[in-house]
Amino acid sequence: MVKKVLKFGGTSVGTTQRIHHVANIIKKEREIGNKIIAVVSAMAGKTKELISYSKNIDENFEKRELDVLLSSGEQVTCSLLAGALMKLNIEAKSWLNWQIPILTEGEHTNSRIINININKIDEYLNKGVAVIPGFQGISKDGDITTIGRGGSDATAVAIAKIFKADTCEIYTDVDGVYSSDPNKIPVAKKIDKISYDEMLEMASLGAKVMQSSSVQSAMLNEIEVYVKSSFKDVKGTKILNQNKISYEKVITGIAYTLDDSKITLQSVQDRPGVASSIFKPLYEKNIIVDMIVQNISADNLKTDVTFTVKRSDFNKTIDIMNNLKSNLNFEKLISNNKVSKLSVIGAGMITFPGVAYKMFDALSKKNI
Ligand code: ADP
Ligand code: ASP
Ligand code: MG
Repeated sequence: MVKKVLKFGGTSVGTTQRIHHVANIIKKEREIGNKIIAVVSAMAGKTKELISYSKNIDENFEKRELDVLLSSGEQVTCSLLAGALMKLNIEAKSWLNWQIPILTEGEHTNSRIINININKIDEYLNKGVAVIPGFQGISKDGDITTIGRGGSDATAVAIAKIFKADTCEIYTDVDGVYSSDPNKIPVAKKIDKISYDEMLEMASLGAKVMQSSSVQSAMLNEIEVYVKSSFKDVKGTKILNQNKISYEKVITGIAYTLDDSKITLQSVQDRPGVASSIFKPLYEKNIIVDMIVQNISADNLKTDVTFTVKRSDFNKTIDIMNNLKSNLNFEKLISNNKVSKLSVIGAGMITFPGVAYKMFDALSKKNI
């Protein structure tokens, strides 16, 4: 008998029919005597729909209220799955974030889980399935919080850690982690085993199959995660420690984003303090800067600084940079809000020459 955390993403619980199917997956686990904690996402598209409701009320909807709204999506699937299990004569019970509680800290809509009270639920696992909503928590002041888009993965890993589960299985709509998004890149290949580091890179560079903070937490706590399909009963992908993998491949995966933007400040003074003056006001407006390129200056006096931000932050960033112009005295601002980022990932690459050449060669053959 083992203790398992099984997380079901949005498409896996996207309809009541899918929820019945998920209940059957859990039933099989119960029949062999496993203790099960099920973590659920909202139905696919629900969180997005709730966000659009809030924007219809106010483009800058207040974040505490947004968390109350967004957490409702997971409340629905939590109850429906507990009901579907009972329908199969499996004892089950749902708990919401504040009932457990799942304690979080940090800002509304982007909180972090810091503790989960396990006592009641751990005891309950001896007789039934605990169904827990992903993505939500409660602050120390008692406010409902959410932990960022795709956050149910992070809830699952946090629960696996705190309940000392034997495995954490992420059920989704693809049958594992692929070398690139299999829904967009038909030649992508399924990966049997991937290291935490590589998965973290893939996730943070655009592969949304796992949310990046959940991978980081799995890595720090050495929790083996298994990504598999709730639609097909086939072998999935194991995410584990690098030393448990023998590398035959140079490249593990290629990740990409399609929603970046790029800003260049031309002829900025090349002296200490200038870069911090550029990035401080972005930090103050909570804008995340991703890539930064600053070339060496030819004359030791002036240089160009290029950086990228998410396209959704582009207009705000341009305004901030224009406000800095008189102070920083740069010559010109060049920008492009239709930029994607392509990342080649693989631990095997460290000891293998020619990767950069092959990547640029492939791009040039397509005239990119
Ligand atoms: P869930 O709702 O189950 O959390 P997500 O939509 O968050 O599912 O993540 C699964 C999706 O991730 C897949 O449908 C796939 O399109 C996408 N994806 C992007 N990159 C990859 C990759 N490298 N391997 C597998 N899936 C990927
Ligand atoms: N429902 C949330 C979202 O869509 C969390 C999740 O699905 O993991 O972002
Ligand atoms: Mg997801």
